[in-house]
Amino acid sequence: MLARLGHAPGRIDGLLGPNTHEALTAWASGPVRTAVDRLPLPGHAVADAQGAYPRQESVATFYGVAGGPDCTAGIVDLPIPFRLAWDLDTSITSFRCHRLVAAPMTRIFREAVAHYGAAQFERLRLHLFGGCFNHRPMRGGSALSMHSWGIAVDLDPERNPLRWGRDRASFAAPAYEPFWTIVEAAGATSLGRACNRDWMHFQFARL
Ligand SMILES: [Zn+2]
Repeated sequence: MLARLGHAPGRIDGLLGPNTHEALTAWASGPVRTAVDRLPLPGHAVADAQGAYPRQESVATFYGVAGGPDCTAGIVDLPIPFRLAWDLDTSITSFRCHRLVAAPMTRIFREAVAHYGAAQFERLRLHLFGGCFNHRPMRGGSALSMHSWGIAVDLDPERNPLRWGRDRASFAAPAYEPFWTIVEAAGATSLGRACNRDWMHFQFARL
């Protein structure tokens, strides 16, 4: 029913994942779609490494066609098993992403686990995988999501929902500062840090 109403809940798999959740929120918000602005905050600093990746509006030039074979040709081998955020009984040891971001993505998780140690990394819920490649419109928007190119990752969506700002999102806490430093040094952009929205999400594209 949500799909028929245009809310893109994803395929029916019996799980209340991020797509279903966002579709329900959009439906419950009524006929006027509640768009979420993703504008950079004034004074938001961009790390040098982020300059190696395109701006959002030029991702198709840099990464190729959305949903194309390159978007899942990269493999990220995880340093410890992660769990699917929408199905905690399922653990994963790797996931697929765009060919061009597999190396820096792999480095992010390897360095973060090395920094925190596995136990602390899990206590911080950084091992709760919310998805990478997913050919769909942007949540709370109509343009294609960066997930359509396999260049974005979501972590712990339950405690970092799209519309929460730093007053509520768990990833805004000081304990995550080293993680975001690692993410940015690898060239990725955190939407939480850049626009105080969608703290679950980082991407290899600047705003
Ligand atoms: Zn995301």
